[in-house]
Amino acid sequence: MFLDIHELQKHPIILDIKFPSGKFDYGEGISQTGDLAVKGIAELHVDAIRLRGSLKVEMAAPCARCLELTPFPIDQAFDLFYSPISTIAREEEVEIQTPDLEVGFYHGDGLQLEDAMREQVLLSLPMKSICRIDCAGLCPQCGQNRNAGDCGCHPMKVDQRWSPLEKFRS
Ligand SMILES: [Zn+2]
Ligand SMILES: [Zn+2]
Repeated sequence: MFLDIHELQKHPIILDIKFPSGKFDYGEGISQTGDLAVKGIAELHVDAIRLRGSLKVEMAAPCARCLELTPFPIDQAFDLFYSPISTIAREEEVEIQTPDLEVGFYHGDGLQLEDAMREQVLLSLPMKSICRIDCAGLCPQCGQNRNAGDCGCHPMKVDQRWSPLEKFRS
């Protein structure tokens, strides 16, 4: 859905749209497991596009410790401003001071809603996705998921990180 500034100059655009899973490429094993539902409004503030509303989606990403695919539901409000990129090019040296606003940019005649929403979803995901706080991860020796049970491996006597130093000992 393209939000055209010429249309926004005439009237705000109501956002009520669902993007099915598979529409976006989130990269790095991250997937969208249900519809991404967006509700809100797009309006023009001088020459900036303001998007306000909420998005709801169920995402899934591999746990950083055990690699198990883990659901990450996202349900949040957004209030975003997008300035024309040309303004910035002219005022390159000017530092943008907008502590309470999230600011992005748009090129040319408007903004692709899909791009803005995909970015919001990625920003909402945890930096390090883990399936649960106490995830035991994979066994470094046999590779078994230790959440599923004890694999029976015994901790090695020598910490492997130091083994290259062994030969320097006399
Ligand atoms: Zn895990
Ligand atoms: Zn093991």
